[in-house]
Amino acid sequence: MFRYCPSCASKKIRFMDNRVFRCPDCGFVYYHNTAAATALIADTGGCILFTRRGKEPAAGKLDLPGGFVNPREGAVEGLIRECREELGWTPERGSLVLFASFPNVYPYKNIVYNTCDFYFTARIDDGLTEESFNLQQSEISGVEFIKYDEVRLEKLAFESTRLAARAYLKTLGGIYE
Ligand SMILES: [Zn+2]
Repeated sequence: MFRYCPSCASKKIRFMDNRVFRCPDCGFVYYHNTAAATALIADTGGCILFTRRGKEPAAGKLDLPGGFVNPREGAVEGLIRECREELGWTPERGSLVLFASFPNVYPYKNIVYNTCDFYFTARIDDGLTEESFNLQQSEISGVEFIKYDEVRLEKLAFESTRLAARAYLKTLGGIYE
């Protein structure tokens, strides 16, 4: 990511252990730490709400609502903000339950971000429809309510999302694997 040290311009800067840049010439250190991200498994009682990604990585594939947690933000606040921004819809804070966490790898514009994804669940109003949302088109090209037994894990954008969706479907009786 850095070809030259951002502090002294030395070409000897090295990226080590997949997370830290060190410059032997001036002592510059930068930790490219794991980033926190959130996602929501919103369940109507028969269907799960998926988004269709409007941008890379994995444009066009199915995903869950959510995104990166901002600096100085908690995971719940980050998830609610992402839902508001991307979907024009705010999940009820009291309905959010932390369900699982999985690591993910998110390549974006030639930089690989390692993330720690936190998956929340919420039971949502089964009266919601695709028209209930006001989508941020730069991020999301559509939303789909998919019945439990019609969720196809291979159509999901990320490994962590597949693991979370599989684990969630398993809690519903183990017949949707
Ligand atoms: Zn340096």
